Amino acid sequence: MACIFCEIIAGRMPAHRVYEDEFCLAFMDIMPISSGHVLVIPREHAANIWELSQQASAALLPAAQKIATALQKSGLPCEGINLFMANNAVAGQSVFHAHLHIVPRVQGDGFGLRFPPGYGQTASNAALQELAQRIRAAQ
Ligand SMILES: [Zn+2]
Repeated sequence: MACIFCEIIAGRMPAHRVYEDEFCLAFMDIMPISSGHVLVIPREHAANIWELSQQASAALLPAAQKIATALQKSGLPCEGINLFMANNAVAGQSVFHAHLHIVPRVQGDGFGLRFPPGYGQTASNAALQELAQRIRAAQ
């Protein structure tokens, strides 16, 4: 089955484009969390952050920054913005071509992160040290 985002890049599927450059394309999310919800995608097919080239990865955030600035200037309701990228189904990814959500936020919009039970406890230094060591060692 064809990748719907690759079809959009190729122009075989319609999308309301808001930005493009050599490495990225941005368009309106068809199921917006809020008015002005934009997706930024790499032109290369990469399923997720692990498959994304360094070049495409390096282009995504500057593109998101331009769009975030445009959203603020546009007059659309935008008191804040969340950037969100889901990687793998367990994290909420439903289209398996890497994409960065740009979600305009306003007070009381009802969107947000839900923290797990028990959240709010400060981790011990020993636990954080061990975790940091494992992550450093894996690079
Ligand atoms: Zn794709």
